[in-house]
Amino acid sequence: MSFDIIKGMATTFKNMGKKPTTVSYPEEERELPPRFRGRHVLHRYENGLERCVGCFLCAGACPANAIYIEADENSEETRVSPGERYAKVFDVNLLRCIFCGYCQAACPTGAITLEHEYKLAAFYPEDMVYHKEQAAAVGLGDLRSEEEVLLTNEEQDEDRRKLASGKDWQKR
Ligand code: SF4
Ligand code: SF4
Repeated sequence: MSFDIIKGMATTFKNMGKKPTTVSYPEEERELPPRFRGRHVLHRYENGLERCVGCFLCAGACPANAIYIEADENSEETRVSPGERYAKVFDVNLLRCIFCGYCQAACPTGAITLEHEYKLAAFYPEDMVYHKEQAAAVGLGDLRSEEEVLLTNEEQDEDRRKLASGKDWQKR
């Protein structure tokens, strides 16, 4: 028996009694570090107004050009945020995002944070562009709306509904 085999066996025996470092995902999930940066969440104040004031600072700070915003003016009839403006459209392209957290750091109102959600797989690339309606939270870090936002392309929407209901799996 060569010395290398003895060395290998010694390492095996040394580690036999140790607790495994792997987990049985998805049944078991690893606890994430507190500063883990996952999916973006847009927050509201407790009174329901959106924290985002459509200032574009997050989009300007983003090194991956992953944030697309269209701002609009608040009016007395339609008040969405406490500021002059609000984000009418707020999209984050998670295919471009490198989860650096610069958008969170740049935001003057604490409107955007990167939370612990990391299950971000999708069947279609366009589903990786998260819209404001999918990411709005009430209060800081509270409730999240996970409502599906369908695209205007009816054919793809139909495919998505089939996948969501599980019917399409039987054909595969
Ligand atoms: S985490 Fe970084 S890359 Fe992703 S949207 Fe924010 S600034 Fe851009
Ligand atoms: S999320 Fe923050 S930085 Fe980005 S547009 Fe809204 S208020 Fe400005």
